[in-house]
Amino acid sequence: MPELPEVETVRRGAEPLLRGRRLQRVELRRHDLRWPIPVAAIQALEQRRCLGIERRSKYLLLRFDGDDAPVAIVHLGMSGRMLVDLLDQSSPRPPWRLHEHWRMDFGERLVRFVDPRRFGMLDCCRADELAGHKLMRSLGQEPLEPGFDGAFLHAQSRGKRSSIKSLLMDGHILVGVGNIYASEACWRARVRPRRAAKTLKRSECDQLAASVQSVLQSAIDAGGTSFRDYVGVAEEQGYFARELAVYEREGKSCRRCKQRIRRTTDAGRSTYWCAGCQH
Ligand SMILES: [Zn+2]
Repeated sequence: MPELPEVETVRRGAEPLLRGRRLQRVELRRHDLRWPIPVAAIQALEQRRCLGIERRSKYLLLRFDGDDAPVAIVHLGMSGRMLVDLLDQSSPRPPWRLHEHWRMDFGERLVRFVDPRRFGMLDCCRADELAGHKLMRSLGQEPLEPGFDGAFLHAQSRGKRSSIKSLLMDGHILVGVGNIYASEACWRARVRPRRAAKTLKRSECDQLAASVQSVLQSAIDAGGTSFRDYVGVAEEQGYFARELAVYEREGKSCRRCKQRIRRTTDAGRSTYWCAGCQH
């Protein structure tokens, strides 16, 4: 599943290709993905200029010009890919791929959304409605933006009996940290992911916040983690998987202390950690 680094990689790839370009034509092959697509609002984006692409949590926000300043909201879901083809204005458009559900044709750029499992989404709202949008309003802190630090984690963890890992993965508190990066960040910070969050000392919170940021930043720098069916804008594979310290490394030797990496399962979700150097 694409996590924050993968979505940020798509944003960074797509933004310079689309910014300033006029959307000439929208084509929808279906009227729903995970949720219904607001067809009329999406079609009303035609002839508007893309002002840029932002990211909030794992949502891509394509901003368009005009008095109502519409924003297209794209989520990649479990298996979605937002590809951007570079074409000549007059060249024929490529045939639709299997599981390609919509296109935005910017003339020399063609955005194609391919999503076999259809957990992705396409929505649209006005810029002034964005903060109150049902999918945006309860989102927590961005981990790579000001406001996220040890003090924040310390305050959020007080009185919480749930695990450190579930705190990191609670999207109402902190967005964009999924299973892979939560396990990796705990290893970097030398804390056991299943410890109760309330037991975190302030110094550990500082370490943990820095680790969350460094693991996400490393993955973004590497172009996202590529596991199953994720590929980025130009379909280049991410390379971060090779650098993972604990995730999917059960039984292998810890890169820091050489003990074997352990795996435990909670509610069907695997947690990886090292008993030798995580406390
Ligand atoms: Zn270790």
